[in-house]
Amino acid sequence: MKLTRRNFIAAVVGGVAGIQITPLPWKFTDDVAIWTQNWPWVPVPPTGEFSEVGSVCNLCPGGCGISVRKVEDRAVKIEGRPGYPVNPGGICPVGMGGLQLLYDESIRFTGPMKRVGMRGSGEFQNISWGDAFDMLAGRITALRKAGRPEAVAAVDGNREGTTVSALIERLMRAVGSPNYVRLPSLSDTYRMGNLVMQGRNAPVAYDLENSDLVLSFGCGLLEGWGAPGRVMNAWGMWHDANPAKRKTRIIQVESQASNTASKADLWVAPRPGTDGALALGLAHLIIRSGRYDAGFVDEQTSGFDDWYASDGMLHTGFKTLVLKNYPPERVSQITGVRPDVIVKLAAAFMRAKAPVAIYGKGKNELNGSLYEFMAVQSLNALTGRINRAGGVLLPDPLPLSPLPDFDGDAIAQAGLKKPRLDQAGTRRYPFTHSLINNFSDAVNQSPRSPIDTLLVFSANPAFTLPDGDAFRRALTKIPFIVSFSPYRDETANMADLILPDSTYLEKTDDIVWPVGLQYPLYGLSKPVVEPLYDTRNCGDTIIELSNALGDPVGSAFPWETFEDALKERAKGLFDAGGGLVRFDPAAPPWKQQSPEKRGKPDYKSFDDMWKKLKSGGLWYRPVSPPRAWSDLFKTPSGRFEFYSRLIDQAIRNGSAGEMGITARDDEACMAHYEAPKAGADRSAYPLSMLPYEMINLASGWIPSPPFLYKTIFDSQLLKDTSFVAVNPRTAAGYRLKEGDLVSVKSPVGEVQARIHLFEGAMPGIVYMPLGFGHTGYDEFLKGKGVNPNTIIQAGQDPVSGDPVWWNTPVTLVKA
Ligand code: SF4
Repeated sequence: MKLTRRNFIAAVVGGVAGIQITPLPWKFTDDVAIWTQNWPWVPVPPTGEFSEVGSVCNLCPGGCGISVRKVEDRAVKIEGRPGYPVNPGGICPVGMGGLQLLYDESIRFTGPMKRVGMRGSGEFQNISWGDAFDMLAGRITALRKAGRPEAVAAVDGNREGTTVSALIERLMRAVGSPNYVRLPSLSDTYRMGNLVMQGRNAPVAYDLENSDLVLSFGCGLLEGWGAPGRVMNAWGMWHDANPAKRKTRIIQVESQASNTASKADLWVAPRPGTDGALALGLAHLIIRSGRYDAGFVDEQTSGFDDWYASDGMLHTGFKTLVLKNYPPERVSQITGVRPDVIVKLAAAFMRAKAPVAIYGKGKNELNGSLYEFMAVQSLNALTGRINRAGGVLLPDPLPLSPLPDFDGDAIAQAGLKKPRLDQAGTRRYPFTHSLINNFSDAVNQSPRSPIDTLLVFSANPAFTLPDGDAFRRALTKIPFIVSFSPYRDETANMADLILPDSTYLEKTDDIVWPVGLQYPLYGLSKPVVEPLYDTRNCGDTIIELSNALGDPVGSAFPWETFEDALKERAKGLFDAGGGLVRFDPAAPPWKQQSPEKRGKPDYKSFDDMWKKLKSGGLWYRPVSPPRAWSDLFKTPSGRFEFYSRLIDQAIRNGSAGEMGITARDDEACMAHYEAPKAGADRSAYPLSMLPYEMINLASGWIPSPPFLYKTIFDSQLLKDTSFVAVNPRTAAGYRLKEGDLVSVKSPVGEVQARIHLFEGAMPGIVYMPLGFGHTGYDEFLKGKGVNPNTIIQAGQDPVSGDPVWWNTPVTLVKA
């Protein structure tokens, strides 16, 4: 089958509509055929032999299995793999459009390059890999010789736990720089929440498929949250065509009528940033009614009741706090949700046999708030929904082998003792591993950049950060920037040197535990086609760079190739036992199976496992029965902690004020609601701006396949202008009507957009789509709409210090 523009769009729209994502516009098919007639890279394959290659998509943390159809050497179509447990046969629009990210030469770098034009102009000149390594290794070596290894920094957008990420961090340690900075994501909020309440450094695992009530606090279930292929599959199960077979209800807590909200069984709209107060309001009603799980609370938790410390001091427990502070009337004042709706919500949660409360913002790219996560997790603990089928499971981390330890030289050891520029891990941010906004602030506030050489991996912070353009300004001060991106993104265009990665369809790479999945899964992508251009797998590039740096840095990387490092880590999967490398659709991994049906490891040796893992792209362990409680929680109390002793200890080491916590004393150690700090003059900026994400538009590091722009509604993007959604009442207050051009002004910037009147928007809130407003890539992606990140005044979440996305004060001025 030939992939034409017309049938591609039909497939995207049809596939999406078929899995009930969104009513996307079919009428665009013809428009697209016209619009795309000049695209040189539309794959029109020659006639030839067909083949199908199975791999894994790496365009988001969802880890979907994909099947790529080829004609001779040319890839012509990407589909979901029915034989993959995460997304049996399903695929999202971005994944379906992945071929455009392979074949569109105008958005890719075709080989190593150095900058020849002005910074940001995107003008580069080809150089050889040897020259590129010499240039970069010479610079890093000179900094090390000068005793300034900390002036090398790395920004890493790969998912934590992946092998390439482990190599990047290792490179920084071997060089001697503490300035290894990751981008914030929802996984960070999950990691911190798990740590402070459960003492566990393991992924969040929501057993959605076995739940009968999913109470979603902000998760964009149909907008790309979690592992989107998995969630779409679960959504299909939840919505059986036969109503009698339907067991699961969905309640969406979100301020606007998103796709998820409008297709949920119940939509509850609290004010943005008040989800935690609503969760605590439900907890209040559950405690007051006495219908909490007393057995679990008594035996497995700590900090529920008031208690006396060893010094005789009386401490307030979660029960007293919640009963006192979160009655429905007060929660209604905070959230704007009517008291009777709060009561109804609590009743539904108590009535359900296997409910689960899940937390997240949009997709996985926006971090959440630590106290909000704690509030939602407290609700699960209160009702005994932890370590129970259909609730929150507590698996161990993936048993990957650690890479061998190494000793850095004296230069590296001295460099690593220097303070991190972003202050992560200090008394002020004790649980956070990276704070990129602090990093760019530190660069911007220094008369001379403390960073000399910045390495950027799988990230486009000049576009994706909610910082009012602060990172882009920092880039203008950093003397030497190196991008490893395969794409001509905004950050890469500011670079001096490009060492381009291959795309996900051209390389081997690992996918570590798709977000939110309730069972451990390790995915492995493989080259579907040979690299089209002179690009290299970034993992191989790091190893080669370490060799160019020479010993002792080089000796910390004893692998010939990146695949050797992947293989070394995968040994841990074999040693742990119990894994499967083939998927039997009759025994889905989320279903408890009897020992006979459970399946035995389908490999005989490690080499056999590795061969099958490379071929099938999959290692997983089906969900296990609830685990024994002993030693499950690794907290100081050995129990689930409503009252986090780690936060208590952190406050004792520093102070609540230093950590940005408004609450004091015991309240600061438990889930609670904190009103946003007063910032800008609200009389000048009386509205709030909230960015939102869409399933059919990439909003992170990966560019959107250009075809997808024609699946966007006219009320989101028309020609080159994007829209902001506002409630008609809000618009009336500003004498605005549908289609009016306005300036959206915040204290840090201003963008122009058109007004879309939307009854599903909360009055007083301006909703802006994320993913538009590129200045990088090619003529089909740049200049389309505006990027809300440029006007976000993020502030900092208490304790974590991560950005707060949903409270930027704005006003609207008719243009
Ligand atoms: S959901 Fe993510 S992993 Fe799955 S196809 Fe889409 S982009 Fe790829």
